[in-house]
Amino acid sequence: MRHVRHVVCINTNCRLEEPPKPNVTLCPKCGTVLDVVYDYEYLKSAVDRDALEASGERSFWRYRQFMPVEDTSPAPPLRVGWTPMYKRHNVVGLSTLFIKDDGQNPTGSLKDRPSALCVVKAREAGSGSVACASTGNAASSLAGNAAAAGLKSFIFVPERAPKGKLAQLLIFGATVICVRGDYQDTFKLSAEAISKYGWYSRNAAINPYLVEGKKTVALEICEQLGWQAPDWVAVSVGDGCTLAAVYKGFYDFRQMGFIDKIPRLLSVQATGCFPINKALREGGDIVPMAENTLADSIAVGVPRNGTKALRAIQASNGLTIEVTDEEILAAMRELGATCGVFGEPAGVAGLAGLKKAVAQGQIGQDEKVVAIITGNGLKDTANALTAAGEPISSAPDMDSLLKELGNRGIKGL
Ligand SMILES: *Cc1c(COP(=O)(O)O)cnc(C)c1O
Ligand SMILES: [Zn+2]
Repeated sequence: MRHVRHVVCINTNCRLEEPPKPNVTLCPKCGTVLDVVYDYEYLKSAVDRDALEASGERSFWRYRQFMPVEDTSPAPPLRVGWTPMYKRHNVVGLSTLFIKDDGQNPTGSLKDRPSALCVVKAREAGSGSVACASTGNAASSLAGNAAAAGLKSFIFVPERAPKGKLAQLLIFGATVICVRGDYQDTFKLSAEAISKYGWYSRNAAINPYLVEGKKTVALEICEQLGWQAPDWVAVSVGDGCTLAAVYKGFYDFRQMGFIDKIPRLLSVQATGCFPINKALREGGDIVPMAENTLADSIAVGVPRNGTKALRAIQASNGLTIEVTDEEILAAMRELGATCGVFGEPAGVAGLAGLKKAVAQGQIGQDEKVVAIITGNGLKDTANALTAAGEPISSAPDMDSLLKELGNRGIKGL
């Protein structure tokens, strides 16, 4: 990997540098998360904007030079990334809104990006099995991408995982361990099992390569907006890995001179669980919180990548905001009814936070904003139906239909 210099410990008192081996995990000296460091001077000599635009690769693999993979590693079998970017007017109070629909990934969430990269790294490490603990999407995406690549997967899920995500895991042939406990218990058990069996770990706070897969969403945003960085990007935040990754993607392209600024990041959490936002506003360390939100993918009381996320919010001159479950469900309806895009609760939380920030005047209505829709609504139809309400019931004859529509003042045209 000529383009990768090393991995470095993000602890400012440590800063240990290690060679970028495929199976590096936490800092061997202090146990902190590591970060991948690129040789931008070399990259500048190897790739430019025209070369990227000329790429025929319609997946995240078009940015393989910005990912820590060996030149000889084959592309993942599933088509991951290069998801659509839609431009809409007069939605959530903004004159123009860009929607990056990452629910269009092969298993229906942004997590396909890191999971596909994880499978590539597992093969580089010579491992035949991958494992993770997840509230759902990290797991289902790992199981799908592993299945496609012929790897076994071992998945630890907490009890509350929605049925759609569980069904994906089982269909993808994963060995699924449903842990009777919360996410924290689940994470701990998976870590112990991973070290016992030697599986390749996809746990986001342990494996420094996952951020590098996730960041490709930001790289795509730059290219799809014609290399004009937006003013803001709204992201829903659980562990903080996605937010940190979005920052890293913009940082990479800023270093390359492909964009002239890094957008401000809007960190959106649920009012029932917001340890990262709380730490940012109050200063000091991240304190564990209860996990009271129906947006399961961001119900993370003990964030595993909090430090990276806090730094990303600060470095981008970002903003924090929380949304209630009602606001999340309302955003789900508004996105569906105005844009034809169906997001899961955590998938639309960023958009809900954006709407609130615009209403409160923190984001101007004419600013250029991207909301990332991080997961597909079909994964969690139970909550979608709560948001959507009941259909109209009619007997199978025209009189009955006219009566039912008339009662609701629906004209048909
Ligand atoms: C994982 C996930 C998030 C949050 O990502 P973190 O890295 O945990 O902050 C948001 N939305 C969806 C749909 C997710 O699956
Ligand atoms: Zn260290």
